Amino acid sequence: MKVLIVGGGGREHALAWKCAQSARVRQVFVAPGNAGTALEPKVSNVQISADDLDGLLDYAVGEDIELTIVGPEGPLVAGIVDRFTAAGRACFGPSRAAARLEGSKAFSKDFLRRHRIPTASYATFTADNFDPGYIRSQRLPLVVKADGLAAGKGVLICETHESAIAAAGAMLEGSFGAAGSTIVIEEFLRGEEVSFIVVAGGGRVVPLATSQDHKRRDDGDQGPNTGGMGAYSPAPIVDAPLHARIMDEVIEPTLRGLRLDGTPYTGFLYAGLMIAQDGTPNVLEFNCRLGDPETQPILMRLQSDLPDLCEAALAGSLDKVDVRWDPRAALGVVMAAGGYPDRYRTGDPISGLEVAARLPGKVFHAGTRSSGSQILTAGGRVLCAVGMGETVGAAKRQAYDLVHAIHWSLVQYRRDIGYRAIAREQDAT
Ligand code: AMP
Repeated sequence: MKVLIVGGGGREHALAWKCAQSARVRQVFVAPGNAGTALEPKVSNVQISADDLDGLLDYAVGEDIELTIVGPEGPLVAGIVDRFTAAGRACFGPSRAAARLEGSKAFSKDFLRRHRIPTASYATFTADNFDPGYIRSQRLPLVVKADGLAAGKGVLICETHESAIAAAGAMLEGSFGAAGSTIVIEEFLRGEEVSFIVVAGGGRVVPLATSQDHKRRDDGDQGPNTGGMGAYSPAPIVDAPLHARIMDEVIEPTLRGLRLDGTPYTGFLYAGLMIAQDGTPNVLEFNCRLGDPETQPILMRLQSDLPDLCEAALAGSLDKVDVRWDPRAALGVVMAAGGYPDRYRTGDPISGLEVAARLPGKVFHAGTRSSGSQILTAGGRVLCAVGMGETVGAAKRQAYDLVHAIHWSLVQYRRDIGYRAIAREQDAT
């Protein structure tokens, strides 16, 4: 069979690499892919943007693609699955209506409240009804969020009422474009963040291996928020009782609620959770897709066939698949361009990739492009180096061996990915 992966980041490199391992798959196409996907056996890039729904559907029909897996949220929220399904092409992901869970924070907060799923208290405003008095009446800090897609940047944590009022005002005046024409003002939650990702379809659900990411740029979880600077799987904080609570209190009611609302969910569903001191799994956000960089360590551990899993979800037969995981831990370190997540330079030659390719573990590309025989930086997050080991600590050593083999001018990465998990491992021994 032929598979099409939509997107061009590290998540899509991992999806393409994993699909190419399937004995049933003859060829994987990635639109638009990156320099790393172009080098994978059985994988080729296609120069179509992930947002060009017409171009993607024409390509899928022309190439007779049997399964399309969509990486990023943009095309899902824009309705790629509805378009492909109407044309009789299997496309793995939620419908446009179900993808609103990520596409609109106001929609997802109302959904959570209506279905009694734990989440921070909140209020939503537009320019017409914005009330600074509401902000002044709330406890600090306060979280101000743009309703729509803002590439992970539309969330501001405000320490004073005045800064929250200013942030809300700026969003409503267009600092995030249309994404901020509605805003959500939310209670600040404390605890430890966990990513919980499942595969859903046909009323059934299979949880993926647990994972945890580091969103802040600097060591010690300091500095600005980013798309993610590293991730590992499993997440030791998610023990069996917490896993059961997340399934019972978040995942099952969410999928049931979507069915009741007439928008059943198929695809990867990602719940970003803040685990409170008492163990309550509060939903921070939903993503209608896999996380990046969580996907890279998760798929390193997946031993089952990925296209089989997606097809089972589409056919409503997830109860018949046996999802097997490598018992070892996997840990990924994101190597980013200097300056990221603000302004950063592109076009720097990357050295050491051949050396890294001979080491254990795997380097997934994100913002890279090739130019002649060189591979150049072409984005903020450039690579994700994933190591494996008997413990998260051992996986970390393997990942950093890869990182240390690779270099470019002004590369930046965190040195402490996995520190919470490693502290838990040390406490346990
Ligand atoms: P979101 O896109 O809604 O997940 O927000 C991005 C990040 O902001 C989250 O991963 C959290 O680190 C942080 N965040 C969002 N909402 C809250 C909240 N209510 N309390 C504390 N931190 C939050």
